[in-house]
Amino acid sequence: KIKKMDLKKYIRDIQDFPKPGIVFKDITPLLLDVDARDYALQQMLSAVKDKPIDKVVGVESRGFFFGMLLAQALNVGFVPVRKPKKLPYKTIAATYELEYGTDSLEIHVDAISKGDKVLIHDDVLATGGTSKAVTELVEELGGTVVQCNFLMELTFLKGSDRLKGNEIYAAVTY
Ligand code: IMP
Repeated sequence: KIKKMDLKKYIRDIQDFPKPGIVFKDITPLLLDVDARDYALQQMLSAVKDKPIDKVVGVESRGFFFGMLLAQALNVGFVPVRKPKKLPYKTIAATYELEYGTDSLEIHVDAISKGDKVLIHDDVLATGGTSKAVTELVEELGGTVVQCNFLMELTFLKGSDRLKGNEIYAAVTY
């Protein structure tokens, strides 16, 4: 049994990043600290305990950190979802809305097999647009999303509305 930790102590606010007026939640202090990092990982693992999972999908780029740790701990494959033109093999893409304009994410066509039970991981759930696009990629390849899993959820941005119908877990909520 591990001692309870306050993960918020390892997440810092950066004012005006990446643009003026935005307060960016920075998880790098959490990555630096072995105990906090392990505690966060264990929290996320306990949220998928008893759920069969075949693949972990991590979202570029901060979703790669814990996504890979989760995949390793669950003893399953890891799948990177990336920004356009980064993946070398055949891909499919999903487009989502940004504040101004749109963006896309890509996945390799052979990364998910029909019937795969998939855990999606990203660092932050904000408006939910990113994760929604990732669920579409997984489903287009015949996978089922078991859970959308995050280090933190910014609840005031209502991302969970966007992900309706999906189970959501966040180790920390603001
Ligand atoms: P959404 O699509 O609005 O839910 O935004 C989520 C995406 O933006 C994730 O891939 C996050 O990595 C990134 N993101 C949004 N806000 C923050 C933040 O405060 N810190 C770190 N990443 C963020």
